Amino acid sequence: MSKYVFVTGGVTSSLGKGIVSASLAKLLQARGLRVTIQKFDPYINVDPGTLNPYEHGECYVTEDGAETDLDLGHYERFLNIFTSQANNVTTGRIYQTVINKEREGAYLGKTVQVIPHITDEIKRRMKMLGENGEWDIVITEIGGTVGDIESLPYIEAVRQLQWELPEEDLLVVHLTLIPYLKAAKELKTKPTQHSVKLLSSEGVFPDVIVCRTEEPITNDIKRKIALFCNVKPEAVIEARDASTIYEVPLIMMEEKLDEIVMKKLDIPNNKEPELGKWREFLNKLKNPKSKVTIGLIGKYVELQDAYKSILESFVHAGAINECKVQVQYIHSEFITEDNVGEKLAGLDGLLVAPGFGHRGIEGKITAVKFAREKGLPFFGICLGMQMAVIEYARNILGIRNAHSTEMDPTSDEPVIDMMEEQKKITMKGGTMRLGSYACDIKEGTLAHRIYGKLQVSERHRHRYEFNNKYLSQFENNGMIASGRNPQTGLVEIMEIPAHPFFIGVQYHPELKSTVESPQPLFVHFVAAAKNYSENKPMLKNLQLKDVVI
Ligand code: GLN
Repeated sequence: MSKYVFVTGGVTSSLGKGIVSASLAKLLQARGLRVTIQKFDPYINVDPGTLNPYEHGECYVTEDGAETDLDLGHYERFLNIFTSQANNVTTGRIYQTVINKEREGAYLGKTVQVIPHITDEIKRRMKMLGENGEWDIVITEIGGTVGDIESLPYIEAVRQLQWELPEEDLLVVHLTLIPYLKAAKELKTKPTQHSVKLLSSEGVFPDVIVCRTEEPITNDIKRKIALFCNVKPEAVIEARDASTIYEVPLIMMEEKLDEIVMKKLDIPNNKEPELGKWREFLNKLKNPKSKVTIGLIGKYVELQDAYKSILESFVHAGAINECKVQVQYIHSEFITEDNVGEKLAGLDGLLVAPGFGHRGIEGKITAVKFAREKGLPFFGICLGMQMAVIEYARNILGIRNAHSTEMDPTSDEPVIDMMEEQKKITMKGGTMRLGSYACDIKEGTLAHRIYGKLQVSERHRHRYEFNNKYLSQFENNGMIASGRNPQTGLVEIMEIPAHPFFIGVQYHPELKSTVESPQPLFVHFVAAAKNYSENKPMLKNLQLKDVVI
């Protein structure tokens, strides 16, 4: 049987519950415990797959093809384990299950209510991962802020579990904010007191209070919080702003968060955390020997969370290359033939991001052309790969009308087309090509040099694909398919062998990069950008026509 840790948040949103949860999990894992994390989100969407990135940031896809909250990305990046559909639950999913059961007659004769039916379903899912003996500890992050109407059933479920489970099997961490009032030169504990009071009035009494703060919290303040919030002073944890999220586990360790948690959960503390690899990564991250600037072309660039996994993959790839990766956001909508040189000036590499719909795609195509012609390292992900294919078709193969049927459904040259099995689908949620698929790599290609093996498995989230009717035309003219699905023959990787580094992938490699195992495409892309930045004068004037295909 697993032990359960619940992480709630108070005072305000965006305090970093996901990072605190992942950091605690990392510390417990580093002490040899088997730990997983799950996220319960209070919104009514069945999953975040139907949410615009402006609403909720990136949609993170797991191995089993679940469209999930971006916090699951943090869990995987910190813990180097896979999560699954079971690790992300929303109110929509809870209600869907209960309503389906009601229609099947499972509650015949009964009035179906929030308590006990909804809370029972929440509890069932809260305990689910802990029941198969795979995990010693299951950490559950509860989305939203205490006091929100929509998170009430979750808090109620934790309250009930507090009574149902043995005392040493459950612990509640509450994350709050201690604001610093500059004018008064004072840290203020009142919002935390109110937040804990609110939580307590809902019947849940936190065991540990983690305080986000910009300034150090004195022992006096800790004692005050402990007194008002009914916890021991050592259970008041300072979580000072860190220069990188990857430092948070070490900050939490200094504050002894893991020790306090283990003590309450009655877990013997006989092993120091093994964080050698983690520290080595941090050391490289903080002491780069070089720097590159990568242009990220997308249409959601105003919101960093929209490309979270890509940004974190660059952090991992940068550290291993001992190179600082400066990501420069470039809005695809504003790139034109006339300004592309100016917009992309000073870059050492270009990444064209995933995306959906028409907006900004001509800017992406123009940017790809620039990178191809200038020998600038290019990396296209999903829609980025599709744009590279369209660009090549239009400008090298002379197929002027080349397009994707996503943007031009009646295109007479659909080099990117909807997958056959997608054509009959009418429902939106969870219906794309999702999750992990195998990809065979062609020997001797850039993809082969990057991965160093002949088969890989990567995660997908798309409806359109390369149209194989055009493949020989591409391959006879310098752009080859270096990765294909072994069963269906779907093209997964396209590259231009004559270019110093030009690769586009139909899948999302950013979803599999972790601190301990950086994704190879990102690692090699950063290395290529480094090389480009060191040899820029030589490569600057390189034109594709100068290179023998
Ligand atoms: N919109 C494209 C498709 O559905 C690309 C998707 C993506 O970039 N994730 O195929």
